[in-house]
Amino acid sequence: MAKASKKNTIKLKFDSARKLAPAPESKAGAKIDPQYDLFINGKFEKPTSKKYFASINPATEEKLSMIAEANQADVNKAVKAARGAYDKNWKKMPPAERAKYIYRIARMVQERAREFAIIETLDGGKPIRESRDFDVPTAANHFFYYAGWADKLEYAFPNRTTSPLGVAGQIIPWNFPLLMAAWKIAPALACGNTVVLKPAENTSLTALKLAEIIQEADLPPGVVNIITGAGSTGAAIVNHPDVNKIAFTGSTDVGKIIQRAIAGTDKKATLELGGKAANIIFDDAPLDQAVEGVINGIFFNQGHVCCAGSRLYVQESVFKEVVRKLKDRLETLIVGDPMDKNTDIGAINSREQLNIINNYIKIGQKEGAEMYQSSADLPKKGFYCRPTIFTNVAQSNRIAQEEIFGPVLAIQSFRTDDEVIEKANNTPYGLSAGVWTDKGSKIFNLTTKLRAGVIWANTFNKFDPTSPFGGYKESGYGREGGLHGLNTYVNVV
Ligand code: ADP
Repeated sequence: MAKASKKNTIKLKFDSARKLAPAPESKAGAKIDPQYDLFINGKFEKPTSKKYFASINPATEEKLSMIAEANQADVNKAVKAARGAYDKNWKKMPPAERAKYIYRIARMVQERAREFAIIETLDGGKPIRESRDFDVPTAANHFFYYAGWADKLEYAFPNRTTSPLGVAGQIIPWNFPLLMAAWKIAPALACGNTVVLKPAENTSLTALKLAEIIQEADLPPGVVNIITGAGSTGAAIVNHPDVNKIAFTGSTDVGKIIQRAIAGTDKKATLELGGKAANIIFDDAPLDQAVEGVINGIFFNQGHVCCAGSRLYVQESVFKEVVRKLKDRLETLIVGDPMDKNTDIGAINSREQLNIINNYIKIGQKEGAEMYQSSADLPKKGFYCRPTIFTNVAQSNRIAQEEIFGPVLAIQSFRTDDEVIEKANNTPYGLSAGVWTDKGSKIFNLTTKLRAGVIWANTFNKFDPTSPFGGYKESGYGREGGLHGLNTYVNVV
């Protein structure tokens, strides 16, 4: 009797997870203008190019707004404004005064958190729960954290003298639009640099909202310039002779183009590029917790995370059990309207990205891997992908080697520590990894031997402004976050 009722409870829980009544966030809390101009020298101005491009809601394919496309002349103006503000104002300002501005921005992001979360979700397709509970608060926290350092650089670099670099050109991707902007702008300002930032072309809106805040915060004109456009706008920033530092987060391919472009110049750079993180589950791990961590690591946020745990290595003795648990959990994930507060997996960011993911799913099948997809119904309109796992994967398969940037997990088994270390390290990337075990000694053994910038133990995808983040190998170089993040925005003597 007791057994039967336990079974029923579990069944009920699964059923109810899939049949929750809609709980949509209201769009009324956010105002999106029909058109956005470039934010240069403290003002919004029309692009010299006279061109605008559409920003689309990937969940519905509806147009949200028209965004200005900055050309070379616009980039020149933005860099000139940043240089002027740097020379006349920002580098001379007492650090405690600089901090006040950064604190003000942090507070204003907090005050407008709901609006930011709604716009982030409408523009990028990520679940409102993610934007509301992670992206926006973490963005505000980055401003708070670096505001705190602005007048304490002598403690960050004891017995050394620091000076700002000058104008920082910052280019960011579409997966964490506001958070990446905060991640880049906050340490640059705290160290006394001025900024020209370009968001990704399909997710410019929250960066432009941030520009509104920067204007309202009365930041001296030109200290932060936010210009929009696609790859050619980014390239114009990278190649501009008066830019002293490039901070880039994006694909490894573009990272390589940037490296070639700045070779032989005295520009400094931090590059945060792709990843193919391994999550490793040992047989002594708390399996339910590990499965939840794996789900969180690759499926929440549609796998649109450079440090997503897209490979899973499970110790042979618990392999079957873990795969069964994963499949069960996959069935309970709610895929659909990102504005619904219950949604786990929202929309894929763009049609192009959906095509890339679907192509990899075909490649996986052709390579002979065994595919399992959840049976979730997908909305008729918009860009969606069912969470997908592959077993029977070979280490050399493309789905185990290449970054897919979608909700697709490649699973393999292993027997020994040495075997899994070798397999986990056997990709061109090295951004992050996860280890699930009850044994501290195993954690230490693996964390010293895995070649990844960040390694989580018995958790995954945890972020904090105080911790450095960055990669090895083709995942880039330089660290962002924490004290390390200050280091890349100053000259130290
Ligand atoms: P993803 O594959 O994640 O879209 P990309 O590397 O293509 O990543 O884009 C990341 C950012 O880099 C975007 O803001 C994009 O506009 C910009 N970008 C693309 N090509 C170039 C380039 N050649 N030089 C500088 N920035 C670029």
